[in-house]
Amino acid sequence: MIKVASLTKRYGSNFALDNASFEIGGKEIVGLLGPNGAGKSTTMNILTGYLSATSGEVSVGGIDILKNPIEAKKNIGYLPEQPPLYQEMTVVEYLNFVYDLKKCKLDRHAHIDEICEVVKISDVKNRIIGHLSKGYKQRVGIAQALINDPPVLIFDEPTVGLDPKQIIEIRNLIRTLGAKHTVILSTHILSEVQSVCERIIIINKGKIIADKKTDELSRDIDDSVKYRLKVCAPKTEAIAAFRANAGIAACELLPDRDGDSITLSLENKRGIDIRKSVYYVCSQNNWPILEFSPVGMELEDIFIRLIDRGEGGNDKKKKARARG
Ligand code: ADP
Repeated sequence: MIKVASLTKRYGSNFALDNASFEIGGKEIVGLLGPNGAGKSTTMNILTGYLSATSGEVSVGGIDILKNPIEAKKNIGYLPEQPPLYQEMTVVEYLNFVYDLKKCKLDRHAHIDEICEVVKISDVKNRIIGHLSKGYKQRVGIAQALINDPPVLIFDEPTVGLDPKQIIEIRNLIRTLGAKHTVILSTHILSEVQSVCERIIIINKGKIIADKKTDELSRDIDDSVKYRLKVCAPKTEAIAAFRANAGIAACELLPDRDGDSITLSLENKRGIDIRKSVYYVCSQNNWPILEFSPVGMELEDIFIRLIDRGEGGNDKKKKARARG
């Protein structure tokens, strides 16, 4: 349904997108995950025909969006990060306006009524958009994307700024839409893609560094445990001893000092349980352990893991190490 080949977008010497390629089939829910500035909005803006590319190819439903944007756009419903809502219109006036804008040929009333039912805004149809809560406004934004029943839906950070209840509701709605449409959503929240998407494309500094099924990525994350160790030990000796341990992938000093103790961050090598080794290193050296606890992996840690496994190229590996 969507084909992106060697897509590059340059702003001066800065690559917002650097040779990105991926394909997405029908009725998939795919998450585009990356930190701020990774290139997610750039990808979505090119996919939806709002931005030109420096080089590369993009087609949606077999139509080249760069060469034939008007035709290709008919296949896409787009919810930008800031939904293009007219605050002074009522919901139904606005949806009729979008219906006309898209030159929709479906039965006007039945189509708009059905969309309002699906996104659960029937009860606010006659309310002024500007008076609605952020959650309802987001639903109206999704409703406008659904007009003309496009096979592809593209949502840019659809849950940003919503409260926890609204976030759950919007995620449920996206799951429902995934049964009938190909959905691509961008987010910088790992748990969001894990809960909504079947597949995750990870983008960092304009490059795609991973493209995996969600359960595969979740397994990788479960295998990657990080610990926080507070121990009474000489700094240099302790770091050297842990780094020399076969099961430990990384040992870094954390800034948290307390009396004669130091605090270290320890990461296991994939699939290796390092808890006993950590105890043995400490007991052999007579280093009392004050605290030893697992720490959840952050998105940044997962990036570094993926890059370290060679999925992001050698230059990134060096940079990640330098940061660590
Ligand atoms: P994301 O959506 O993942 O936060 P963006 O696609 O917005 O990332 O941005 C990717 C990179 O491109 C960033 O480094 C950003 O600063 C840069 N960028 C985006 N738009 C412009 C622009 N109009 N002019 C110059 N640089 C831009």
